[in-house]
Amino acid sequence: MATLLDGKALAAKIRADLKARVLLTMKRLRRPPGLGVVLVGDDPGSAVYVRNKEKAALEVGLRSAVVRLPADAREAEVLAAVDQLNAEPGIDGFLVQLPLPAGIREATVVARVLPEKDADGLHPENLGALLKGVAAPRPCTPAGVMALLDSAKIELAGKRAVVVGRSAIVGKPMAMMLLERHATVTLCHSRTKDLAGEIGRAEVVVVAIGKPGAVKGDWIAEGAVVVDVGINRVDGKLTGDVEFAAASARASYITPVPGGVGPLTVAMLVQNTVELWERKP
Ligand code: NDP
Repeated sequence: MATLLDGKALAAKIRADLKARVLLTMKRLRRPPGLGVVLVGDDPGSAVYVRNKEKAALEVGLRSAVVRLPADAREAEVLAAVDQLNAEPGIDGFLVQLPLPAGIREATVVARVLPEKDADGLHPENLGALLKGVAAPRPCTPAGVMALLDSAKIELAGKRAVVVGRSAIVGKPMAMMLLERHATVTLCHSRTKDLAGEIGRAEVVVVAIGKPGAVKGDWIAEGAVVVDVGINRVDGKLTGDVEFAAASARASYITPVPGGVGPLTVAMLVQNTVELWERKP
């Protein structure tokens, strides 16, 4: 039976450590770190995510500022909100909550965030830094997965790792981070011919598809580490992309959904912001 990788507990520990770091550096900077969010429209999921981010930020001692725009906001207005946070000295990091309403180009908006204020680590310059192995804010969800693997002291060097899903937010940066840690990485997606076979050869499996139970438990190799990034709502309940019970019977470690990767994504956002603040003269 697999050991649970408890993201909720690790996120609480990370927040407590960050709180201590904030108190320490506050003596030098004489102001708290500031985290900003641009929230466009009234998507209920996005509203929940933004509330969770604000709550975590406040717990760690950050100042939080949310700029809200209506669902029919024009792209120019969203860019103006980004410019406003770019210019605000008390905001050290911020993000634009995705997805944006149709008609607003996400890539244009994300690229407008100053790379040195990019709390989400999704600016093209910071993604480029990841590709080159240079220090920069890292995308929060894959950074959270790495924190979870590290907390359980899971060795990655030389391991066969399979990442399922190739989004710019999760799958692609996840593959790069595992590669940075010397895993042998295979990146799978909807055109992968034999997903069951690829997963069956993996010692570490990270799944970020967005389809409940798409990865079958009996595909998992005995003793593999399974990280389920997926968040799906089924009959009012949150569930992952992996068949949890069947996968748990074979895996050595597995993340629950909820309570696995989700809380760490938020903790990494706060960590990125604290680190951007600590770099200030
Ligand atoms: P996207 O929809 O952007 O990407 C999904 C990826 O999965 C695509 O690359 C797609 O392939 C691939 N895919 C879809 N179906 C299959 C399939 N049957 N077999 C193999 N690959 C498939 O999603 P995101 O990366 O943004 O998110 C993925 C999941 O993770 C979602 O459930 C989301 O809610 C969750 N999530 C969780 C976070 C957390 O904090 N825990 C944070 C961010 C996301 P192709 O490219 O070929 O279309």
